Amino acid sequence: MLQLFIPLGALGIIYRQFKYTLADMDLVFKLLTKEPEIQNIDQAKELEVGKASISFEDVHFAYQADREILKGVSFTVPAGQTVAVVGHSGAGKSTLARLLFRFYDVSAGKITVDDQNIHDVTQDSLRKAIGIVPQDTVLFNDTIRYNIQYGNLDASETEVKEAAALAQIETFIESLPDGWDTKVGERGLKLSGGEKQRVAIARAILKRPDILVFDEATSSLDSSTEQAIQQTLKQVSTTTTTMVVAHRLSTIIDADQILVMDGGKIIERGSHSELMQKKGEYRRMWDLQQEAAEES
Ligand code: ATP
Repeated sequence: MLQLFIPLGALGIIYRQFKYTLADMDLVFKLLTKEPEIQNIDQAKELEVGKASISFEDVHFAYQADREILKGVSFTVPAGQTVAVVGHSGAGKSTLARLLFRFYDVSAGKITVDDQNIHDVTQDSLRKAIGIVPQDTVLFNDTIRYNIQYGNLDASETEVKEAAALAQIETFIESLPDGWDTKVGERGLKLSGGEKQRVAIARAILKRPDILVFDEATSSLDSSTEQAIQQTLKQVSTTTTTMVVAHRLSTIIDADQILVMDGGKIIERGSHSELMQKKGEYRRMWDLQQEAAEES
């Protein structure tokens, strides 16, 4: 049986924490054998994924009835394109990603993938189509090979290695004394935030999802790790429709569309250069981050 490096009794707390940080819910549900709060509707259909365009149409959402978090959010991500969501802490960025994965149902409006309302399709088929790189990756107390292979347990050894190479973690793994058989997790090697995120990227690559959701870690990564992750994402996202929740604006300059959120609404949208020319909130955030980078 799989062993987590966390006591079973703590799973309830961890489950809630995961919901907050957008972890891999497939994994969490399997570990907990807990029914998700969101149920399939009667006669839910399988999601039929074509090219995987995403659309949010006047989406409203509240975690608690008296506090609306999303106040009418609309945007479309054409198939194969990348949308980046930026904005101050608490603006509702990760909430958009959580709703796309259907951790929760919207209170009004709708979210569609290839014109199918995600509310009306089976959760299994929806979640199969989406690969998530969460802020905090759950690692099994198992080998690093298994931790990557978890993305697709049918993958061959060569595919696992290719995914690790793309995620720029293969060299690191091969430098370890036990290589691919190195145990990770609490009772094994503890990986840094950047390494864990690269394991998650390798997992997601192996899953070959139609949609990739990347929730960038808030904690700062060293700049070479950040560049490596950025490079990998760029490669991976050329073929998939991608949503990136970003904290560092430098990582999303190439996104096809950037949404700037504030107080549950999109206050600006456009490409990096369009938003820079607009001299609004995005420009202000960019200048602040540049100043901070120069000072450090
Ligand atoms: P950050 O940049 O800090 O990650 P964010 O823009 O991604 O922030 P969200 O995580 O989407 O923000 O949260 C938006 C708001 O919803 C916040 O005020 C947060 O406190 C609240 N919130 C998030 N998760 C829950 C929850 N499970 N229950 C109640 N409120 C929540």
